[in-house]
Amino acid sequence: MTQTHKELNGMMLQAFQWELPSGGHWNLIHKNARMLRRLGFTAIWLPPAYKGSAGANDVGYGVYDLYDLGEFDQKGSVATKYGTAAEYRACISALRRAGLLVLADVVLNHRLGADELEHVSVRPVNPENRAAAPGEAMEADCYTRFTFPGRKGRYSRFVWDHRCFTGVDYTTQDPSHSLFLVDGKRWADDVDAEHGNFDYLMGADVDVQNPEVKQELIRWGIWYLKNSGADAFRLDAVKHISASFLAEWLSALRRKTGKELFAVGEYWNYDLSALETFLARTGSCMSLFDVPLHAHFNEASRSGGAYDLRNLFAGTLTDARPELSVTFVDNHDTQPGQALESWVDGWFKPAAYALILLGRSGFPCVFWGDLYGIPSRGIKAVSQLPALMRLRRTGAFGEEHRYFDDADIVGLTREGTANVPGSGLAFLCTNARGGEKRMYVGSRFAGQVFRCDVGGRPPVVIGRDGCGVFSVADGGISVYTPAPKLKTLIWRFFHR
Ligand code: CA
Repeated sequence: MTQTHKELNGMMLQAFQWELPSGGHWNLIHKNARMLRRLGFTAIWLPPAYKGSAGANDVGYGVYDLYDLGEFDQKGSVATKYGTAAEYRACISALRRAGLLVLADVVLNHRLGADELEHVSVRPVNPENRAAAPGEAMEADCYTRFTFPGRKGRYSRFVWDHRCFTGVDYTTQDPSHSLFLVDGKRWADDVDAEHGNFDYLMGADVDVQNPEVKQELIRWGIWYLKNSGADAFRLDAVKHISASFLAEWLSALRRKTGKELFAVGEYWNYDLSALETFLARTGSCMSLFDVPLHAHFNEASRSGGAYDLRNLFAGTLTDARPELSVTFVDNHDTQPGQALESWVDGWFKPAAYALILLGRSGFPCVFWGDLYGIPSRGIKAVSQLPALMRLRRTGAFGEEHRYFDDADIVGLTREGTANVPGSGLAFLCTNARGGEKRMYVGSRFAGQVFRCDVGGRPPVVIGRDGCGVFSVADGGISVYTPAPKLKTLIWRFFHR
């Protein structure tokens, strides 16, 4: 049984956080594959599986060798932070047997931890304005030659050198300057516009416009899918990679494998128009994480009740392109201590999760650090999250009605559908004082009782017009679902 992200009320798990202990993670996911499916997940995003420059301590984004999935003695160990290649394959196989789509995390932008220095002609670039003409060419020693001596040509004999890279951030001659363009190269045009041109992020920046590099990365992609068993992608740092290359790479893989290969890109920009430009440039060949929505959650959680909740979905991908939006609350980069730290404060997490799990739009991604906590930081799991995930499976069906009509209290309802018995729900949240709101849940519920599953509020009787007056406590959330008919009768008996 192969699932796709299009399964009704599908849900993804980002199955890692930055500060996991080293070792054993593939085995842990493997053992729990069926349990994850039972929790309602339909897709699992696994962390980067290849050897990083920091070896067994590398979270995976400091990629050294894309062909070493924990199989070769390189960078101080055979295994990666998460385990060995055999454990990775076994983990994916178990996830797929459990009916889950498996997303491989793909880092194509950069390489770190070169094996040899090369003498290269480079030009210094102004890091703040990379579109400006670079400085005079200078001879310098750069870490740009990757021979992978521990792998000895297994799977690919491709040797990476300065011809495969556009730029570096370090030379031995001028260690104080932080950005150099390899002489004769140019940054890709179709990348994010911040700093004039945001092709360069870190390490040795891969020149995806070099035809040999392009062919090698396509060859690697085919190898990876076959070798790992993964059948979908999370694409890292796509705002730093030529959009036309990404479209070409993905379509080549889809053509050659004949598979759908669901893909979601990480385009880290709070501005919807940047995301829309990228989608236009790539022919909308992938979904994107809804970064603007995350930014709104973060702001709402940090402004002590002053945030106007009516704006939560304004300028988000979820409202502009719901079919391409992967919604999330936090991730490994936004968690405390990380580069893009923008953690959604704990008190607002239930509201944020309810909005992405119970609403109709977007494909929600639950963060490991929210589901299981981040023990190294003393961060506890979001206690209401399992209940909200359950409500997504049992209640969040049918027409949606949004009540984003008040700065402090907003809500939504789902009418439910006849083919999911017991479905339908009403949700309210506030970032200030509690209160109530009259909302329509559907005329078929007239006379029926809605009980409060989350939030501890009294039950509500639905009127003849299909509306109920629902309430929420200070700074909280509440979720109501239709009580079974018998319960309604008993309740009515005692409240005559
Ligand atoms: Ca780049």
